[in-house]
Amino acid sequence: MTKENYKEALQDPIFSSITQAAKEISVDCYVIGGFVRDYLLKRGTAKDIDVVAIGSGIELAKKVAQKLPNKPEVTVFKNFGTAMIKHNGIELEFVGARKESYHRDSRKPIVEDGTLDDDQRRRDFTINALALSLNQENFGNLLDPFSGISDLEKKILRTPLEPGITYSDDPLRMMRAIRFASQLNFTIHPISLKAIAENNGRIKIISNERIVDELHKIIASKQPSIGFSLLNKTGLLHYILPELTALQGIEEIEGQKHKDNFWHTLEVVDNIAKTTDNLWLRWAALLHDIGKAPTKKFDKKIGWTFHSHEFVGAKMVYKLFKRLRMPLNDKMKFVQKMVLMSSRPIVLSNDSATDSAVRRLVFDAGDYVDDLMTLCEADITTKNTAKQKKYKNNFKIVREKIIEVEERDHIRNFQPPVSGEEIMKTFNLKPSKEIGIIKDAIKEAILEGDIPNDYNAAYSFMIKKGKELGLHINH
Ligand code: ATP
Ligand code: MG
Repeated sequence: MTKENYKEALQDPIFSSITQAAKEISVDCYVIGGFVRDYLLKRGTAKDIDVVAIGSGIELAKKVAQKLPNKPEVTVFKNFGTAMIKHNGIELEFVGARKESYHRDSRKPIVEDGTLDDDQRRRDFTINALALSLNQENFGNLLDPFSGISDLEKKILRTPLEPGITYSDDPLRMMRAIRFASQLNFTIHPISLKAIAENNGRIKIISNERIVDELHKIIASKQPSIGFSLLNKTGLLHYILPELTALQGIEEIEGQKHKDNFWHTLEVVDNIAKTTDNLWLRWAALLHDIGKAPTKKFDKKIGWTFHSHEFVGAKMVYKLFKRLRMPLNDKMKFVQKMVLMSSRPIVLSNDSATDSAVRRLVFDAGDYVDDLMTLCEADITTKNTAKQKKYKNNFKIVREKIIEVEERDHIRNFQPPVSGEEIMKTFNLKPSKEIGIIKDAIKEAILEGDIPNDYNAAYSFMIKKGKELGLHINH
């Protein structure tokens, strides 16, 4: 048994409280999993700490809570035999060491009490099975029965047990493997990767909520394409996001090819990950082209087209969120809006953008115009450096124009300079369609640049428009 010691990882006073509590109830205990892994990877201090007790985790948690000065509440999950304490912003999770066996149709194991070794065996990856002793006599000693340290050094994800069984027992582990690969930039051991591909259909027993949790973590990682290409390679993506796998492939008719929109999408996501941590903007990048699969057509004169793919894509966003039980709230609407508008700045940057086109962009995108520009900049994936430079520069000009136009015209969060009530009062009108017509005409005149966005100009315009409609001014 290795004698490596990492007591420097356990300097937080919470650990000595646990040691004391464990001693008083004569139970051995260890800190295990993510905390140990992240300490060794120098990933900063963990927000959750898992403690395994050789005995009752719940009893240990209660004893620890008694010892802490603020006597925190202990949340007991009786069904799982675990207990949780929140302390100084850290979640401490206590569990009794256990041995697990599984039924084929559920990821809920049959659980028996076990040894530390049994408990390490049930962990998903060797790097997540590392434990440090919290017992007084060997405080900080490392317990690494599956060579997790060596795998950490080699940056490899490997299961302690036979991978086929590990993934089939709890298919969530397949998502976790890929998520860790993406988050930590680790390689999944080839035998493990093969086992994931063989068991991909088992993902069906995992709830959408759990799948989405892992997807969020992949999307939030530094280079999300690592995760998505693994999801694709193992066949999992087809079950989870068939809208993306449908973008794969290059077709050629009469010598004309279109780009592979799946790999293009992954490039866009990697690009945007360099410039924003906004999870939903990253989702928008992932989904910005999904409308291209159902709208793809070949036209003899113009070649490949994807007519109104943005509109179709935005509709697909709703269905996708619904299917995955993601929130159908403002986040979803934001992603829809980004997908719907994803080509607008591109059109602008091709010609020299007119002020009125920029005003319309700002009017339609509102507060999200910067996010939209960020998405479009990430969408530049051409390998032709001259073109790349040109496109980037065009977007820079559009960005400058947005600022310029905004300073002058205040289009963002547009408020009509003349209210409906004023129109009614001026022409002595009851609620009627004329009011809408006049309001709309004012807005259009401002966006077109026919009049400035101010009260006096809008008032005169209203009078003129009212006269055109045959209305009489109320003196
Ligand atoms: P993070 O907190 O960054 O998501 P983590 O490894 O700490 O990573 P948790 O979900 O907090 O993940 O789980 C804590 C520990 O529990 C893991 O390190 C691992 O040992 C074990 N574990 C979690 N989920 C599973 C699973 N599905 N199968 C086997 N072991 C698991
Ligand atoms: Mg954790």
